[in-house]
Amino acid sequence: MGFDALIIGGGAAGLSCALVLGSGLSKPYCAGKKVGIIAHQRASHLSSALINNALGIQTGTSGKDILMSGMQKLETFYPEVEIIQKEKVLKMAFLEDKFEICTNKNCYTSKLVVLATGYGKPFTIDGLENYLVPHSKSKPSKERIQLTNNDHLVIPDLYVAGTLAGHRSQYAIACGSGAAVATDILTLWNQGEHTKVHDKVR
Ligand SMILES: Cc1cc2nc3c(=O)[nH]c(=O)nc-3n(C[C@H](O)[C@H](O)[C@H](O)COP(=O)(O)OP(=O)(O)OC[C@H]3O[C@@H](n4cnc5c(N)ncnc54)[C@H](O)[C@@H]3O)c2cc1C
Repeated sequence: MGFDALIIGGGAAGLSCALVLGSGLSKPYCAGKKVGIIAHQRASHLSSALINNALGIQTGTSGKDILMSGMQKLETFYPEVEIIQKEKVLKMAFLEDKFEICTNKNCYTSKLVVLATGYGKPFTIDGLENYLVPHSKSKPSKERIQLTNNDHLVIPDLYVAGTLAGHRSQYAIACGSGAAVATDILTLWNQGEHTKVHDKVR
């Protein structure tokens, strides 16, 4: 099964990226684009978080609720985004003009990949060892990791978002990072002309 963009990880950064990419799929420059998310959530740091300090989120909201409502929002508003559940990515290979992503159940190919699997160690996806470095914005004693990147780009067509991109662990930062990557991809699909997706009050 071939994707144009495949997001790996269904936490704060991955889901935010999927929502913004999904919202852009109705644009003419996205015609025929196939987007997917491997929405593994079990290991999300949000699972045990209580989010009181994020704009627009009601005080006392649990991270678990955000994970669940985020998935429902994606399914309801952007059903074109294919959601792959209950699969964990084990391996990534670099083919000539695409990536091969293998989970515990299937293999997929995609022209672009967004990695949003969090900064926890051990990092369990084979094939990315060359890009793994210690996390630059967390306590060294915690031994967190990140992927080398320049403004979220690891190498052409391979993006990283959230804490795995080297951002501090804060919900709003992870969401913003995922959304930023989505607009970079939309801009790429729009032949390099800067773009974003804004809904407006009518
Ligand atoms: C106890 C706790 C309390 C917190 N409280 C706050 C707070 O009050 N305010 C605040 O702003 N932030 C808080 N945070 C931080 C916030 O939860 C994180 O910053 C945020 O979740 C990071 O988002 P992320 O997308 O980088 O990683 P995550 O949300 O951790 O998402 C990573 C995703 O990748 C998936 N994944 C991992 N490996 C694979 C694989 N091999 N294949 C497929 N998928 C994979 C995981 O299952 C997970 O869903 C808290 C965190 C914790 C742990």
